[in-house]
Amino acid sequence: MSLNRTLLQNGCVITVDKELGNFRRADVLIEGTKIAAVGPDLAASDAEVIDASNMIVMPGFIDTHRHLWEGILRNIGVDYPLEGDVSYLAFVLNVLAPFYRPQDVYAGNLIGTLGALNAGITTILDWSHIQASPEHTDMAISALKDSGMRAVFAYGPPWYEAMKPEHPAWFKRAAGQYCSSKDQLLTLGLAPLGPEFSTLDDVKTYWQLARDCDAHITVHVGVGSFGQHGKMAEVGRAGLLGPDTTYIHCTTLSDEEIQMIVDSGGTVSLACPVEMMMGHGLPPTQRFLNRGLRPSLSVDVETNVPSDMFTQMRSLISLQHALLFDQKLSGKENLPPLLTARDVLEFATIEGARANGLADKVGTLTPGKEADIITLRTDLVNIVPINDPIGAVVWGMDTSNIDSVFVAGKALKRNGRLLNVDMDRIGRLVVESRDYVVEKSGFKLPAF
Ligand SMILES: [Zn+2]
Repeated sequence: MSLNRTLLQNGCVITVDKELGNFRRADVLIEGTKIAAVGPDLAASDAEVIDASNMIVMPGFIDTHRHLWEGILRNIGVDYPLEGDVSYLAFVLNVLAPFYRPQDVYAGNLIGTLGALNAGITTILDWSHIQASPEHTDMAISALKDSGMRAVFAYGPPWYEAMKPEHPAWFKRAAGQYCSSKDQLLTLGLAPLGPEFSTLDDVKTYWQLARDCDAHITVHVGVGSFGQHGKMAEVGRAGLLGPDTTYIHCTTLSDEEIQMIVDSGGTVSLACPVEMMMGHGLPPTQRFLNRGLRPSLSVDVETNVPSDMFTQMRSLISLQHALLFDQKLSGKENLPPLLTARDVLEFATIEGARANGLADKVGTLTPGKEADIITLRTDLVNIVPINDPIGAVVWGMDTSNIDSVFVAGKALKRNGRLLNVDMDRIGRLVVESRDYVVEKSGFKLPAF
């Protein structure tokens, strides 16, 4: 059987693969679901040819932590901090979340994934702490599948109630029903409350559950004032840390706790815009870099921040530069190196793949990997002329430059438009769900 072949021809190719390098002009050949070849003047007479001469071609962005169910709550809490009486934790997780029906999870997940795809994100970890019933799980996964995105579904018990004894069985049911193979777009994660929001016994139970089911563990630690009590160190001393775990935020961890994560081979997900605006603490980028751990990036909550990775990259690099330049201006010497555009592009791609447990599949344009590829217009008024392609992506472009998005070789966006998306229907679903949840909860939308 012959595979479908697509040739992205004459693009400026950023492979993010250090051995392969980058190309001012080259082709990328997609064969079936995979990247078959990258290089100039590839011969592929039977392939569909897509002219990429006005494009940058690169791996899709990878988001390592997003509460997709909050998609129907976009921009609802931009002036709310994380903690306090009037806050994200108080309203989103404790007032709005309890009223989610399964179809509301579907609507949030669907609009969240489509927004992410539109912004060039091809893999997402859905940190789904809205599993009030098996039906909620089915609908969350249904939306992930309908979107066509590559996703890690990270099952999480809701935070508005005590952990139910049914959750382990519900999780195992979902694991068996949806994730029995790793050779598919959907893979499995477990998103437990973690040591700052549950007991050490719960942590042990859920860590073991994840490992029994071969699921990736993803957990919030060092979260604002919750992270200041040494809970993470207790988990470390209990011998629970491993390379199968991603630690989110880490903003208020001690140096000992940061070092424990590094020593365990774990990965890190930073959500800099959220951490800076909502009071999680200072993003610990430099503390990890100093110890040789390179972070991945995550949008976290669309209640507060936009869906794209341009915002993520620019926030993180700006903050790191600001802090180092501030030290330099105050006379400090022997400072660490400034991050470069290439560094943060890696954080948004290959480091994301690593944190999501998918580095052998995605994150670079390496022949043999899955064809998760985006093309970005270089001939638009906001970016022409291109002098430094990586600099242009990191500092100059935005979602309007995302022309095409391929996941496992399948086009989900072409010529600047998502394919097979009935936005009228989806818009109605989203608004209906938003109206239901807001009305039932008694939450008052922000005055303006
Ligand atoms: Zn989060």
